[in-house]
Amino acid sequence: MSYQDTSLLIDGRWRPGASGRTIAVLNPATEEQIGTVAHADRADLDEALAAADKGFKIWRAVAPFERARIMRRAAVLMRERVERIATLMTMEQGKVLAEARIETLAAADVIEWFAEESRRAYGRVIPARGPGIYQIAIKEPVGPAAAFTPWNFPINQVCRKLSAALAAGCSIIVKAPEETPASPAELLRAFVDAGVPDGVINLVFGVPAEISEYLIPHPVIRKISFTGSTAVGKRLAALAGLHMKRATMELGGHAPAIVFDDADIASAVKIISGAKFRNAGQVCIAPTRLLVQDKVYKDFVDQFTEAAKAVRVGNGLDPDSTMGSLANSRRVSAVEGFVQDAVGKGGRLATGGHRVGNKGYFFEPTVLADVSKDARAMNEEPFGPLALISPFSSLDEAVEESNRLPYGLASYAFTSSTRTATAIGAAIESGMVAINNVALALPENPFGGVKDSGYGSEGGIEAMESYLITKFISQTGV
Ligand code: NAD
Repeated sequence: MSYQDTSLLIDGRWRPGASGRTIAVLNPATEEQIGTVAHADRADLDEALAAADKGFKIWRAVAPFERARIMRRAAVLMRERVERIATLMTMEQGKVLAEARIETLAAADVIEWFAEESRRAYGRVIPARGPGIYQIAIKEPVGPAAAFTPWNFPINQVCRKLSAALAAGCSIIVKAPEETPASPAELLRAFVDAGVPDGVINLVFGVPAEISEYLIPHPVIRKISFTGSTAVGKRLAALAGLHMKRATMELGGHAPAIVFDDADIASAVKIISGAKFRNAGQVCIAPTRLLVQDKVYKDFVDQFTEAAKAVRVGNGLDPDSTMGSLANSRRVSAVEGFVQDAVGKGGRLATGGHRVGNKGYFFEPTVLADVSKDARAMNEEPFGPLALISPFSSLDEAVEESNRLPYGLASYAFTSSTRTATAIGAAIESGMVAINNVALALPENPFGGVKDSGYGSEGGIEAMESYLITKFISQTGV
């Protein structure tokens, strides 16, 4: 299958940027250019803003029942088109085709869940202090939204924002990732083909900072949502604050996975290694600091190392590969740097640690044991196929290490003790805790972080709330 160039979507029209400029798109498995994406300039952004303004007036008036019908149709189209869309994603992002398929199908689930929620954006009636008075709180869409999304889950990161916005009755401008543009464009195409009116959804690409700095302060935009690094998130949140814009920030993480000595070790190794090497570790909720209790430490490190060695690295389109390439060259040099630094500070390289071959951004599944707390990788988000394993003795020690960093997105624990599970659930400072599993990303569940991992939620009814405002109406008869 051939890759396709990606256009902007503005006011229902797929078109090039006004200046005709494009950005090259590379296949990270081959480093070859496979296509281009249109580059939006100020004139395109102005058109997108005007379209979103017009689209909002149209879409907010569409009954939730009808919005849900159109959204469900988009979900059907995503399922019908899964093979083509997943192949585009693997070509531009590097993940294995099986994962790209799961992401595409999961998008259909996300769309359906939010479609149903659109019919349940209930307000409430508040008992009044006198007869003939009605006090009601109603939910209204906040207005046109702007969404900024990264390259690690090209569809999913857009889908959560887009679906919640549409369900609430908002229009949206999506600034999707320039490195992986074709698959998110297919998500928007499914909505267009399903019957979303012109102007309601718009898609732009270009220079991320130029676009966010123009859209966030713009009076048409009422709400922003960003997924990406903490450093960028803080800048965008500050800008949103300056202009009194609602914001959802889904930022970096550095998830502890605490394995107690009463856990089923074989099962913990299987579950954690699966989550660690999924998408080559470029996942904000990937387990990164593996904290293992003394008694089972050696056994865990040995079994985990074997699991890492069993991962088959190769082109994501090859059905034999179980881990594809990293998404860009930045990740390769970043992960190499983390490994060298950790080894230099006394970490033991149990397996991996190197780039694979000299073409394509492939990196070995890497296990580092006994890593010092001052190693950079123990403090900065690794965002790569890097498992850092350290021992601990007591629950208190594990909790202290878990909460040491400013991040607070996902945490995991493995234990057969209900008492320990309950204690961990209460003590960990993170937006999400999974115990004996890693299932955190289902659309019906809240998804978001605390501390430097951001605020707001990209899942559950909380995600809908962030696109709704509450209006209070007090009404008496005349
Ligand atoms: P980066 O921090 O510059 O970019 C991350 C994402 O934010 C990209 O999609 C980029 O296009 C976008 N971005 C950057 N500056 C922006 C701006 N001013 N306005 C709007 N969008 C902007 O660098 P990167 O090399 O792409 O990623 C580096 C780190 O980002 C990773 O190591 C990881 O920690 C984090 N990251 C997190 C997620 C996540 O899911 N939370 C996803 C991708 C990257």
